[in-house]
Amino acid sequence: MEKDCIFCRIVSGEIPSEKVYEDGTVTAFKDINPVAPVHILVIPNRHIPSLAHVQESDRELLGHLLVALTKVATSQGLDQRGYRVVVNTGQDGGQAVGHIHFHLLGGRSMAWPPG
Ligand code: AMP
Ligand code: ZN
Repeated sequence: MEKDCIFCRIVSGEIPSEKVYEDGTVTAFKDINPVAPVHILVIPNRHIPSLAHVQESDRELLGHLLVALTKVATSQGLDQRGYRVVVNTGQDGGQAVGHIHFHLLGGRSMAWPPG
């Protein structure tokens, strides 16, 4: 728990959010500024700054997170038509919040390549 991290504070409940899934390891909540009909952020409860900070010891955590993400996608009705998962990483990746987060985007057709 990093006291200055907004996503750590969302996990703890200190900052309100619309949670759609949580367990002892990960939390999923609606993005405050959605860019698609479904826009959910899936994060580990433990503070990891970015994908670039992932360590070998995070293997199980990240596997758990991805499996949880697929459950959320299904519960949001996205599994038939599909969806996109985005992990902005660092400066060039356009990451704004320094707690690793997986954007789950769906409910419309996505363009490629991204900007
Ligand atoms: P990124 O640019 O990949 O770091 O994405 C950060 C995301 O966090 C953006 O899509 C924001 O809209 C979202 N966000 C920031 N603050 C909050 C918040 N308090 N609750 C929900 N989503 C947030
Ligand atoms: Zn954090």
